[in-house]
Amino acid sequence: MSTIVVIGDGPAGLSAALFLAKNGMTVTLFGKNETALHYARLFNYLGIPEITGPEFARVAREQAVKFGAMLVERKVTQVEKEAEGFICTDEDGTTYNSRYLILAEGKGLKLARALNLVETDAGVKVDRDGRTEVEGLYAIGRMTRRTRSQAIISAGEGAAAALDILSREAGKDVNDFDSL
Ligand SMILES: Cc1cc2nc3c(=O)[nH]c(=O)nc-3n(C[C@H](O)[C@H](O)[C@H](O)COP(=O)(O)OP(=O)(O)OC[C@H]3O[C@@H](n4cnc5c(N)ncnc54)[C@H](O)[C@@H]3O)c2cc1C
Repeated sequence: MSTIVVIGDGPAGLSAALFLAKNGMTVTLFGKNETALHYARLFNYLGIPEITGPEFARVAREQAVKFGAMLVERKVTQVEKEAEGFICTDEDGTTYNSRYLILAEGKGLKLARALNLVETDAGVKVDRDGRTEVEGLYAIGRMTRRTRSQAIISAGEGAAAALDILSREAGKDVNDFDSL
């Protein structure tokens, strides 16, 4: 069983998976590299003067996997809430149990709607850490801000959700700092 399943491999899901895996969590990340970034050329990602979206996605996928995220290049077709967590089913019919579930679906809200998550005009309703009203269930990135979407914001929301889970697991506030 994974502690955390992340559905969606755009900057939001990749960032969450990176932070969680880097800090020792068992993370399964789903996505077929179909992020909206494949249409983008980034000049506004702080710290990177210019990069194409596809190159950004390639580097970010490698980075998350290098730190231990298990990347499954399949779509998740079904999600269910259980008493103690979640069960996801992928397009091959394989099922995955997890304690936490992070949705990072991008523009679409298919799985969020299947879980009856509350929506506002902007998208799925979440708090600052990406928590939805369902215990253990997070929504991050474009699906929470459908008309104000930027890659760096999605990545930041992935980081915030990851730190929230790491803090809950540790029983105290956690940062992910590395020093010179
Ligand atoms: C033409 C264009 C130009 C852009 N230019 C810029 C720019 O210059 N600068 C900038 O900051 N932003 C730009 N953007 C926006 C940027 O691409 C988005 O803000 C960013 O990709 C959102 O990241 P995300 O992770 O929230 O969602 P996405 O990048 O959309 O990622 C969601 C991922 O989840 C996957 N997914 C969804 N459902 C499932 C499922 N059930 N199972 C498995 N995987 C699933 C999708 O296939 C996708 O890979 C541009 C967008 C477009 C379309």
